[in-house]
Amino acid sequence: MLRFSVLGLGAVVCLGGANLPPQDDQKLAREIYKQIVEIKSGFSTGETTPVAEAIAARLKAAGFPESDIFVGGAIPKKANLVVRFHGTGARKPILLLAHTDVVEAKREDWSMDPFQFVERDGYFYGRGTADDKAQAAIWIANLIRYKREGFKPDRDIIVALTADEEGGGPYNGVNWLLKNKRELIDAEFCLNEGGWGEIRNGKRVSNDIQVSEKYVIDFRIEVRNKGGHSSVPVPDNAIYHLAGALERLSKFSFPLKTNDVTRAYFGEMAKIESGPMKGDLAKAAEGSTEAMERVAAASPTWNATLRTTCVATMLEGGHAHNALPQLAASNVNCRVLPEDSAEYVQSTLEKVFADDQVKVKMAGEVVKGPASPLRPDLLQAVNRVTDTLWPGVATVPMMVMGATDGLYLRASGMSTYGVQGLFMDSSDIRMHGRDERMSVQSFYEGQTFLYELVKALSKRSE
Ligand SMILES: [Zn+2]
Repeated sequence: MLRFSVLGLGAVVCLGGANLPPQDDQKLAREIYKQIVEIKSGFSTGETTPVAEAIAARLKAAGFPESDIFVGGAIPKKANLVVRFHGTGARKPILLLAHTDVVEAKREDWSMDPFQFVERDGYFYGRGTADDKAQAAIWIANLIRYKREGFKPDRDIIVALTADEEGGGPYNGVNWLLKNKRELIDAEFCLNEGGWGEIRNGKRVSNDIQVSEKYVIDFRIEVRNKGGHSSVPVPDNAIYHLAGALERLSKFSFPLKTNDVTRAYFGEMAKIESGPMKGDLAKAAEGSTEAMERVAAASPTWNATLRTTCVATMLEGGHAHNALPQLAASNVNCRVLPEDSAEYVQSTLEKVFADDQVKVKMAGEVVKGPASPLRPDLLQAVNRVTDTLWPGVATVPMMVMGATDGLYLRASGMSTYGVQGLFMDSSDIRMHGRDERMSVQSFYEGQTFLYELVKALSKRSE
């Protein structure tokens, strides 16, 4: 019953405190957040255009001229929004990016309506509350605040809210803008999703800044068979071949390894950690395989940082209740370390499946970008703002295990950094999962963090 004593803490009131934006700005950010979370912008069934239009209307109401607002995209349903806040032009612009599409969410999979924005027990619930509509709402709320406050940056601040990050594909907004409207988003560097704050055992430990990321390969795993009547079964069955292969995959792990960025990451984490993992994190940073094994076993996030991972995500097969299957297929989604090649991953899967009836084919295009250089001005600014808001919390450069649109930008030559200052419990990451949520406190503190960070990056220090 004790847990019920905390109910009500998250009532709809604005929080106070030094780390939080003025109440009117909290209210504005929350309103935008609620509005866009409730727009069904699911990657495959939804539309991002209503998000772009709603934001465009808010910007116009806040006094942004129409000529500084662009709404458009690959198809009418998948519009992007780009807005420019003019600075003195002393330096090249900075691009602030967030995507407005979300992973599909089914009502029956959730304990609540995923497209209803709910505040409960200190959390905002809804699909996209963490990935990536918090950052989208914050960019816009902060831009409106800069304008209202008369802030004059020394570079243009561009915000782009884009379509179809989840799964990429032909309507991906960043890819489309790069190919068709590059002048609108061209910038010295970009801030994006992908780096967040880590909470461990209830304590904020690090504010991560994403410098490189894993890349994604989807494989179609397919078994074809002549089939037949189900009353006369034979051992050679497409579904059994596939099931056996996937079972072997479930027991397989790619080798553990580190690179420059993850070594820096584990080195920083070793300084932060006080528990039994402290020594292992330090040794993992030095390349000890035994230590890496223990670190990987201690956390799914650390595991994904230390190795390429491949996991079955979709199934299809059979054509009638009373027929032997002629087809059994699965999608296997791989998140690949920058130093592992696509060919290596494919040949490894083939070895693991160990069945020549199981065909492994790459599905879709593979985009791979270089790591961005760790700019001292950015690292210093992130450090300083982090230290002011959360004294003692380290700024940790890292590689993330999910891929983002930063991939397209990096591949096109624009350095991109994932930094949000939105803190999440590392043992309870719900992005893409059920009952996705963002802590109310984290949301508003992230709003302050990004407000101060962008200001620091667009104003020469006095
Ligand atoms: Zn995302």
